[in-house]
Amino acid sequence: MAVLYNQVLRPPNFSELFNTWTRYPDAVPFAGGTFLILSQGRELPRLPANILSLEKIDDLNRITRTERYLEIGAMVRLSGIIALGKIVPDALSATLKGIAGPQVRNLATIGGNLCTAGDAAAPMTALDARYELRGPGGSRWISAIRFSSLSDTLGARELLTRIRIPLDQWDYTVYRKFDSPDSGDEGGVLIILVKNQKDILTKLQIVYTGETLLRDKNSETFLEGKSLPLDRKDILHYGELWETYLAGLGKPGPLLRSQIVNGIRAGILGLAD
Ligand SMILES: Cc1cc2nc3c(=O)[nH]c(=O)nc-3n(C[C@H](O)[C@H](O)[C@H](O)COP(=O)(O)OP(=O)(O)OC[C@H]3O[C@@H](n4cnc5c(N)ncnc54)[C@H](O)[C@@H]3O)c2cc1C
Repeated sequence: MAVLYNQVLRPPNFSELFNTWTRYPDAVPFAGGTFLILSQGRELPRLPANILSLEKIDDLNRITRTERYLEIGAMVRLSGIIALGKIVPDALSATLKGIAGPQVRNLATIGGNLCTAGDAAAPMTALDARYELRGPGGSRWISAIRFSSLSDTLGARELLTRIRIPLDQWDYTVYRKFDSPDSGDEGGVLIILVKNQKDILTKLQIVYTGETLLRDKNSETFLEGKSLPLDRKDILHYGELWETYLAGLGKPGPLLRSQIVNGIRAGILGLAD
């Protein structure tokens, strides 16, 4: 049966939000609305009968910074995070700048992007971010990698409320965005983070997120502990480790697979002599 009207519910705090959600269990959280509305590609979008707007909840718009972390509320717009400037890790800032155009970035929220498996999942995972999820019974924290790897992370009437990003010093950052029109696979984002201590590569984190999140923790250790600049033979071999990892997964398709491996090799080549 056609829905005759849409009801927009605007709770002012979490306690009212969860009471409202219990009364209207079919209500759909609405953040920036760019996915809910624009992704339909219709002139007149169809909206859920009950819309649970998150806009009035101050906590969701809060940004705090301590010495060790940057904490961002789920309703902060992508453009608002970019505008924070230097405190935002380069990997996150570059990724957000690569999402859509300024109009979409002024509306889209970080929570909405992460809940729709958007590009921001790549830097968040590489930076070891953690997410606060909140439901009627309380809140819990989950790592970015776990959130993105599970298909049904959010429980019934549960929201992503806060993102905590460690403010580690990364000495080398690579951001690449792929389009794969020929392969039929959706492109994604590749992030490479490196720590360098006295010309030793002490930490390497490589994450790719497209249709699925890819991270090969085993191969990262192959380069850790090596002297910088890196030997080109090691970089070649590192690419082979990723080829083996991706072949074992059986996805993504061959074209995107070689794009990812080439992207990783090219990214790490910046650390060779
Ligand atoms: C023209 C265009 C180009 C784009 N290009 C890119 C791109 O290059 N890369 C990319 O990553 N994305 C891209 N996007 C997608 C865009 O990033 C997402 O639409 C946006 O981030 C979603 O955020 P939102 O706040 O608008 O979410 P909404 O549309 O409000 O919500 C999206 C979904 O998430 C749920 N949700 C929202 N917030 C929460 C929360 N806090 N807790 C639980 N559930 C929640 C909603 O119920 C809904 O199901 C593009 C979109 C458009 C329109």
